[in-house]
Amino acid sequence: MKNWAFVIDLKNCIGCNACMAACAQENQTPYWNEKWRTKVEQAVVGESSRLFFPRLCMHCQNTPCYYACPSGATYKTEDGVVLVNPSLCLGCEACVIACPYDARYRYEREDVNKSKEIFGKEFAMHLVPHIDKCTFCHHRISEGLEPACVSTCPTNCRMWTDLNDKNNPATELVLSGKAKPLAEHLGTKPKVYYVK
Ligand code: SF4
Ligand code: SF4
Repeated sequence: MKNWAFVIDLKNCIGCNACMAACAQENQTPYWNEKWRTKVEQAVVGESSRLFFPRLCMHCQNTPCYYACPSGATYKTEDGVVLVNPSLCLGCEACVIACPYDARYRYEREDVNKSKEIFGKEFAMHLVPHIDKCTFCHHRISEGLEPACVSTCPTNCRMWTDLNDKNNPATELVLSGKAKPLAEHLGTKPKVYYVK
């Protein structure tokens, strides 16, 4: 069984937003309404420098959104990926409130209609309103591919690994403790790790 993990080296992020564009195209997220599955935050430091901070769903192993969901719409795959079944989603936002990482957003009816307009009715992926979030590109990783944002990142700031693969440099960063999860004290056990 795979033990997927995502490592982000903050030193290498140049804020180009290629990851956001790749994700929006791959997953048809409502970029037209500034809703993203992954977002690169910016902070201005001093007079001229900037820091970039890529965010996405942490695919927590101890999973607040999963525990909060009353309908079973939020579920976990055997390989530890947290997903949402749109057809079971009530839109109650219990998961949005429970998530400490602000990783979820509402895919509204108007977003569904717009996506059909842009991508074509036969290719539209989001057919009903629901709460949406990053899936680690589960459709791609199941086929042996990397998530779209990882394969697009020009600086390799985003790294993808199976923690069972001890030869992968990203696994080494996690196992050595050089890559750390965000807000570890919350006890959510994220599968996304950051190198400062
Ligand atoms: S980051 Fe939020 S949405 Fe993602 S698994 Fe954790 S609690 Fe759920
Ligand atoms: S909004 Fe949908 S996914 Fe979230 S808790 Fe409600 S039913 Fe579950």
